[in-house]
Amino acid sequence: AQSAEDLAITDPVTGAHNARFLDETLQKEISRAIEMSHSLSVISLAIDYADEAEDLHGKAGMHRLLRDLTRHLFGVIRSGDSLYTLDDGEFFLILPFTPEEGARVIAERIRRTIAEQTWPTAGKVTVSLGCTTRARAETRPADLRKRVRQALEEAKRRGADSVWYCQGETRQS
Ligand code: C2E
Ligand code: C2E
Repeated sequence: AQSAEDLAITDPVTGAHNARFLDETLQKEISRAIEMSHSLSVISLAIDYADEAEDLHGKAGMHRLLRDLTRHLFGVIRSGDSLYTLDDGEFFLILPFTPEEGARVIAERIRRTIAEQTWPTAGKVTVSLGCTTRARAETRPADLRKRVRQALEEAKRRGADSVWYCQGETRQS
């Protein structure tokens, strides 16, 4: 059985950690990146045409898709990376020790491997991904979350099934 604390930080549909736990972990990873002079990247992921998909496949179908995507994502990231379920079918990834190039590689792998499959309740599905890397002197989770959101918005603007990277003011070397 899950403890009250586990339930409070776990998304009931996907079983992944939720937004509440995200900021806590992101703050810790930022501190660790600063201490160890290492890079830290994040990715924000959204299902394309999620509203249309929900109209077509219903809430139960979407929940199944969210669970299948979660399992898939856990399978293609490193055990040191972490995955969060946010509202409205969005996911967030924290990638410790990962520079810009690495974030681009993994975002592209995620995009491609999701588009390649046929999903049990939803058929063909694509996702848009925004990514960014902590800039030198950046210490607040909110800064990274804001920029990765802008990157995701830009990816969506450019059309479905795409990846967009937003660079911070000064890049971490
Ligand atoms: P892990 O580090 O937890 O990675 C889990 C899965 O994420 C990998 O399964 C792979 O599908 C994907 N992945 C992670 N990093 C990369 C990457 O840099 N490139 C690519 N193309 N995929 C990546 P996989 O490949 O079956 O590996 C299972 C486990 O074996 C890994 O777990 C890791 O512990 C170890 N491993 C495999 N290859 C290497 C390697 O080249 N170097 C190191 N240090 N460990 C490796
Ligand atoms: P690659 O697959 O072209 O990945 C290049 C870089 O992207 C990696 O450099 C890393 O910075 C980033 N990256 C890729 N996948 C992941 C991921 O799942 N999580 C995180 N946090 N970062 C990721 P790195 O670490 O120097 O690895 C160099 C190469 O070693 C990789 O090139 C890949 O060919 C191999 N490799 C390392 N670990 C694994 C693994 O677990 N599975 C497989 N299949 N290959 C691995």
